[in-house]
Amino acid sequence: MSVRTALIYSHKFDDFSYGESHPFKVQRFRLAYELIKAYSLDNLENSVISESGRISDEDILSFHDSKYIDRMKEFSASPAPRADFLYGLGDAENPVFPGFYDWACLGTAGTFEATRLVAEEGYSAAFNPAGGYHHAHRSKASGFSYLNDAVIAINSLLAKGKRVVYLDIDAHHGDGVQEAFFETDQVLVISMHESGIYFFPGTGFDNELGVGRGFGYTVNLPLIAHTDDPIYMKAFDEVVYPLISAYDPDIIFTQLGADTFRTDPLTRLEITTHSYSYILRKIKALRIPWVGVGGGGYDLINTARAWTIAWGIMNGVDLPVKLPESFVESIAAMGYPNTMLFDAMHWAEESDRNLALDAVEKSIETIRKEVFPLIIGSNHY
Ligand SMILES: [Zn+2]
Repeated sequence: MSVRTALIYSHKFDDFSYGESHPFKVQRFRLAYELIKAYSLDNLENSVISESGRISDEDILSFHDSKYIDRMKEFSASPAPRADFLYGLGDAENPVFPGFYDWACLGTAGTFEATRLVAEEGYSAAFNPAGGYHHAHRSKASGFSYLNDAVIAINSLLAKGKRVVYLDIDAHHGDGVQEAFFETDQVLVISMHESGIYFFPGTGFDNELGVGRGFGYTVNLPLIAHTDDPIYMKAFDEVVYPLISAYDPDIIFTQLGADTFRTDPLTRLEITTHSYSYILRKIKALRIPWVGVGGGGYDLINTARAWTIAWGIMNGVDLPVKLPESFVESIAAMGYPNTMLFDAMHWAEESDRNLALDAVEKSIETIRKEVFPLIIGSNHY
C-alpha cells in the first residue's frame, strides 16, 4: 500500500463566521494548522497539503433534497436575515450567515477530495479537519451542520461498489449518517458518544441496529457522563475494534470530533488525548485506506491538539509530549495555559466511573449478542 498522505486545508476558512456568540469557531482550523506547522508536519515526505476543491450539485443531491439545497442557496446569497425552520435554517444553532452555503460546500468538497485521493489515487490516508458535519439530515440543518459531507463522500464510494466502515468518535451521536445508511450492509456505521438520554441529538441507543439488510450494520455505544479514558478504551477494544477487523472494509472513514474531552464546554465525558490517540493508533495499525474528518470540539486547543495527533498518527510520526515553544507562546497570548500535546490517562471519580462502567458493560453485552453473530460469526468470541 502507498504511504502517501494528504491534509486538506484552505485559507478561505477564515472568511466565514457562525457569529461571535456561537460555540462553533472557524478559528479552530487555523489553530490546528498552526500546531501542525509548529511540529513541521506540513512538509513531510510523501505528504501533500491540498485545497478543498469543488463539489458538484449532483454529488450533493446524492443525499440531500433539492428543495432544501435551493433554499440554502437563496438565503446564502441574500444579505437580509432569513429563516426557515422547516429546514432548520436561521435559528441560534444553525445560523444563516453571509455565504453559509459556500462555507458548507467548502467543507464538503474537502471531504470529497480526501475520499477521492484515498479511493482513486492510492493515498493511504487523507484528512479534512474541516469536515464531519454528521448531524445534517436529508432536508434539514441540525447541530451546526448544513451538508452531510460524510454521507455525500461515502455515497461516492458505494457507487464504486466499495464497502466502508464509518467510525464516529465525536461526543454527539452521528444521527444524520446513521439515517443515511440504516438500511444497507455496505456501510458498517459505528458511533461512540455521550448518551442521548439527556443529550443532543437524543438518539444513538444500543438498540438502534439498522433495519432489513442493514440490521446489525448500525452499532451504537452510548456513554454516560464521566466516562473516562479506561472505559472508553475498553469499549473500543471489546466491541469496535473486533467489528472493524471482522468486517474488513475497503475504506475506513472516521469522524474525529474532539468534544469528548474533559475540558469541552458542551459535553460531560472525561476523555483525554490518551484514549483518543490510543484508538487512532489501532486504526492506523489495521492498514486499511483511511479517510479522516474533523467534527465537534469547542475547546479550541483540544481540537488543535487532537487533529495534530491524528495527522501525526496517519503519517506514522511520533510527536514529542510537549507542545512546541512557539505554539505555547502564541496560545498563552490568547489565554490558554496548555503546554502538553499528550495528557496522562485520566480516571473519573470512583462513584461516577462505576455508573459509567455499568452502563457501557450493558451496551457491550447487547452488541455482542445482537451484532457479533452477524459480523464476526458465532465461534470467534
Ligand atoms: Zn459533537
